[in-house]
Amino acid sequence: MYGKALPIVDTLGAPAASSTAATHTKHASFEYLTTRKDELVGWARKFSLFPYPFVTACCAMEFMAVSASAYDTDRFGAALPRFSPRQADLLMVVGTVTQKQAPILLKVYEQMCEPKWVMAFGVCATSGGFYQNYASLPGIDRIIPVDVYVPGCPPRPEMVIDGILQLQEKIANGKHHIVNESF
Ligand code: SF4
Repeated sequence: MYGKALPIVDTLGAPAASSTAATHTKHASFEYLTTRKDELVGWARKFSLFPYPFVTACCAMEFMAVSASAYDTDRFGAALPRFSPRQADLLMVVGTVTQKQAPILLKVYEQMCEPKWVMAFGVCATSGGFYQNYASLPGIDRIIPVDVYVPGCPPRPEMVIDGILQLQEKIANGKHHIVNESF
């Protein structure tokens, strides 16, 4: 019968809710594409971290150690430090942060483009460490969000690498909006 649409029926012969089925199929395909997109973008982002080292104190020595060839953070795609926040996506806060430095740290964080992540490198950045006084910030999470905390005074390079790996896992399992809020 040319020109005449046949009614869609289900296996029992009842008319099927064609528009609902079509909508479900559309949603399923969209969900599948969104999941695959998140996996792909997460994989790319986790292996292309550009750290910005915000270095203030003695943890700097450990940062230099972990950045040296012996530990080879290039294996994780996180070896090249950028000294402009606009070119970085991983803010590594290395050392004690004082109340006076806090607004500067916040400005650096705000200048970084999305997506961005933050590592608290060492116990001072994590909680203020043993500096329980009015001049030190008791943890950088008082002013900026932190994705991964690396303990230790100072942390060993292996602990920093472990922090990088945990951050990579978080990035890989996250949602990655690249077009708008829904995709
Ligand atoms: S955690 Fe220890 S090594 Fe690192 S900045 Fe604080 S006092 Fe220095």
